Amino acid sequence: MPNFPHEEFADALAANAEYIKSFKYSELTGVAQQGLAIVTCMDSRINPLSVVGMRSGDAKILRNAGARVTEDVLRTLVLATYLLGVKRILIMPHTNCRMAMGEEADIHALIQQEHGVDTRSLEFRTVSDQTKALKIDVNRVRAYPLLNDGVVVGGAIYDVANGKITPVDC
Ligand SMILES: [Zn+2]
Repeated sequence: MPNFPHEEFADALAANAEYIKSFKYSELTGVAQQGLAIVTCMDSRINPLSVVGMRSGDAKILRNAGARVTEDVLRTLVLATYLLGVKRILIMPHTNCRMAMGEEADIHALIQQEHGVDTRSLEFRTVSDQTKALKIDVNRVRAYPLLNDGVVVGGAIYDVANGKITPVDC
């Protein structure tokens, strides 16, 4: 029984039909041409490739709520550094991030209050001090023993108001 929700995705499918008319990336492989991986937030205001002047094929993009370094980010970075050409990793949270605007308990309480669902079995990994959290995350990657040798890791905060990334000493 066909069950793809065509109506809900009609705009995306129509746009894709246009996109493929001028598709120009068919020669690319999965190796990151610029050797870069960016770990950033799911925030819809961030276009990670554009932010650093890159395009399809150039970089690996890893995203989650708050740009946090989780087990799954580490798993992905290990694969990226051995198999997919990644030699530098930029951890890039952003200003005005919802994950840095409230305590873990407040977000659980908000969802409980508005939707009646108890989400406390999840850890959302909110941060109260974004710079401090970034330092912890950058150093977590730097200290991770399974990454390929010679990988360089940096942290920077992206400003959603003007598009600027500001490097942070970690
Ligand atoms: Zn965010």
